[in-house]
Amino acid sequence: MKCPFCKGPTTQVVDTRESEDGDSIRRRRRCLSCDKRFTTFETVELRMPQVVKQNGMRSEFDEDKLRTSFKRALHKRPVSAELVDAAIDHVTQKLHALGEREVGSRQVGEMVMKELLKLDKVAYIRFASVYKSFQDVGDFTEAVEEVRKSPARKAADRGGKPAGKQSVKQPGKQPVKQQN
Ligand SMILES: [Zn+2]
Repeated sequence: MKCPFCKGPTTQVVDTRESEDGDSIRRRRRCLSCDKRFTTFETVELRMPQVVKQNGMRSEFDEDKLRTSFKRALHKRPVSAELVDAAIDHVTQKLHALGEREVGSRQVGEMVMKELLKLDKVAYIRFASVYKSFQDVGDFTEAVEEVRKSPARKAADRGGKPAGKQSVKQPGKQPVKQQN
């Protein structure tokens, strides 16, 4: 590591200590050119990979977005918040474990589907049916909103005719009271 004072190329580690919580290592260094001392910290890098959409757009991984996707898919389903949290942890841990700087949005979606499949079949189908055609968790969130609103909206578009109820009226079904 270069000296921050004189930019000398060679420094010597004179002391190494682990932090109390064990999360970082502190090194005391001495510059061999100017003899000044400075400290460096070494920590584990646990950065989430960037999410790359199908169209090549990149965005920061957004845990809130992920949570929203789970919530929407599990809307009114009998799944505890605890289990949802655990599922979100699984996904983020898997992403960490990849150790990649980038991950495809499709891959994130597949991870979400795996978790939903374990949690609730209905939520899984909700997510899968919408997600498959979007391949992006963010778009999915909006799409589910659409799906939830759509039955009422479709009926309205058709002029409010409740499809199915019309053809049921059959005169033959009236009680026949002809007795001879
Ligand atoms: Zn120096």
